[in-house]
Amino acid sequence: MQDTVLIVGAGPAGLSAAAQVASAGYKAVLVEKEDVLGGAPIISGYARLVPSGEWAKDAIGRMVKRVEEDGNVTIHKGTKVTQLNGEAGKFTAKLSNGKSVKAGAVVLATGFTHFDSVNKPEWGFGTFPDVVTTTQVEQMVTAGKIACPSDGRTPERVAILLCVGSRDRQIGREWCSKICCTVSANLAMEIKELSPKTQVFIYYMDIRTFGLYEDRFYWKSQEEFRTKFVKARIAEVTAAPDGRLLLKGEDTLVKRPIVIPFDMVVHAVGMDPNMDNPEISKVFGVGLEQHGFIERGEHYTNTCGTTRPGIYSCGAAYGPETIDDSISQGMAAGARAIADLHGMTRKAS
Ligand SMILES: Cc1cc2nc3c(=O)[nH]c(=O)nc-3n(C[C@H](O)[C@H](O)[C@H](O)COP(=O)(O)OP(=O)(O)OC[C@H]3O[C@@H](n4cnc5c(N)ncnc54)[C@H](O)[C@@H]3O)c2cc1C
Ligand code: SF4
Repeated sequence: MQDTVLIVGAGPAGLSAAAQVASAGYKAVLVEKEDVLGGAPIISGYARLVPSGEWAKDAIGRMVKRVEEDGNVTIHKGTKVTQLNGEAGKFTAKLSNGKSVKAGAVVLATGFTHFDSVNKPEWGFGTFPDVVTTTQVEQMVTAGKIACPSDGRTPERVAILLCVGSRDRQIGREWCSKICCTVSANLAMEIKELSPKTQVFIYYMDIRTFGLYEDRFYWKSQEEFRTKFVKARIAEVTAAPDGRLLLKGEDTLVKRPIVIPFDMVVHAVGMDPNMDNPEISKVFGVGLEQHGFIERGEHYTNTCGTTRPGIYSCGAAYGPETIDDSISQGMAAGARAIADLHGMTRKAS
């Protein structure tokens, strides 16, 4: 049992944890609730990833292939863990497919849930078909055509609204989702590549294209692709008499009201805690932090830990995270789990 790690969730973090465990000669059992592996980038059909520029289906597809072809990894798709008994070094998990797994450690790589834009009704999602989310535009880019859902026309003017479902105390989402500024600057460039005549505007509170992304996405998007960044507070999205959309609010740099027509308005949706987290907390006996993400055990000496010994976590399960960092954290969680199991085996012998 002490040579097996149970990994829950097969997104970038979980796939990375499984590969790490397997490469050290340990057994990984990967349990994924969906019928496909790859997590949000595959399930939601992301286009080209930040920062590599590689198509999600190729980049994450490689990660999926690596674990599928590894004899040390057993995969259960369309499955959840319904019960976990035991303690570090000797857990037994019951699965929803009727099977059970004995494992020495567990890694929760259960990720996040996209913010549901219907919780921001004043910004028109769910009311007007041409108000869409970044995940929908990612899917349009993947399909190779930017089109207004209402009638299929190519939009002349697109507005991307940042921080939808993030940094918004009124709806209990105080956190910054970390990657959506960069993803939006990237999407603006992708829209221009597919539809060079479309004008793209990004409405922001602050721009957080952190680290090396400032130059490669924020400046490049403006200087090479003519994306217009407008610092504003958006009040509402309504219908214009000609059937287009009207964006109303205030330009907060010049302190003037704005009412601007657009063909398509895009919500840059944030990263909510996984909606399964209350259930995950109960089944695995781990704590959640104040916003509902998985609580980290300790920051500096048990970075991949949770509040329960023998159960580790990584990636967006802990809070908004990028793919690159989720992959690194997945490797770290896998390595930490087998290091602890190795320590137990040494003590026992
Ligand atoms: C619109 C948008 C675009 C983005 N684009 C980029 C980008 O270009 N570059 C970048 O770095 N980041 C991007 N991100 C962030 C990226 O989505 C995350 O960094 C990444 O998905 C986190 O990986 P993860 O494995 O931790 O979680 P996830 O991708 O959420 O994977 C979690 C997996 O666990 C499974 N799961 C959940 N609950 C259970 C359960 N109870 N039992 C079993 N399985 C379960 C899920 O089905 C899923 O497969 C974007 C985010 C958004 C919102
Ligand atoms: S990354 Fe940008 S868009 Fe996303 S929540 Fe933070 S500031 Fe807002």
